[in-house]
Amino acid sequence: MISGAPEHANLILDADGWLRLQAGIERYPSPNHDSRPQDEAPCLLVLHNISLPPGVFNGDAIIDLFLNQLDITAHSWFENVRGVQVSAHFLIRRDGTIIQFVPTVLRAWHAGVSCFAGRVRCNDFSVGIELEGTDTLPYTDAQYLSLRKLSAALRSRHPITQVRGHEHIAPGRKTDPGPSFDWARFAREGSWQAGQLPGTEPQSICL
Ligand SMILES: [Zn+2]
Repeated sequence: MISGAPEHANLILDADGWLRLQAGIERYPSPNHDSRPQDEAPCLLVLHNISLPPGVFNGDAIIDLFLNQLDITAHSWFENVRGVQVSAHFLIRRDGTIIQFVPTVLRAWHAGVSCFAGRVRCNDFSVGIELEGTDTLPYTDAQYLSLRKLSAALRSRHPITQVRGHEHIAPGRKTDPGPSFDWARFAREGSWQAGQLPGTEPQSICL
């Protein structure tokens, strides 16, 4: 048991793609979503990081951004995200709290221009998880614990067989979750095989 971490038991993803609410799970439906083409089942998990402004944690700015309610005047850095309409399915906060914005059966807008295994538009076939953090600051034990539980719930509900960072599906454009993410720990704790994780296949090419 990690002191201070939310105590969620095994997480359950309902048929409609929402996590069942319990302690440590919150829900803020985002308008930034649409349908997956042909209602395709997601097969890829994409990990990100975010903090607004970078390196500042625990405020409401990320939630406000994903709900198109961010007060751009509240911080000079927020000009960088003026007018953007983005979302992720989930955010895992530093204390392990999981916030869901979009049901997994729908398409969240997290990957942008991206490529995986010869396919573009990774949003079509992926689930996006944001870790509150930066590329260089280690993620917390509570975040790894919540990520493990959330990943297990996702794999129980969807045919997810591969995991990548945003940096792997948008190389040269994105750097998250960055060197601060411990892929070996993630693999060990979630029983992922090497062939399911980054660095095990040639750089995929999308034309
Ligand atoms: Zn990202």
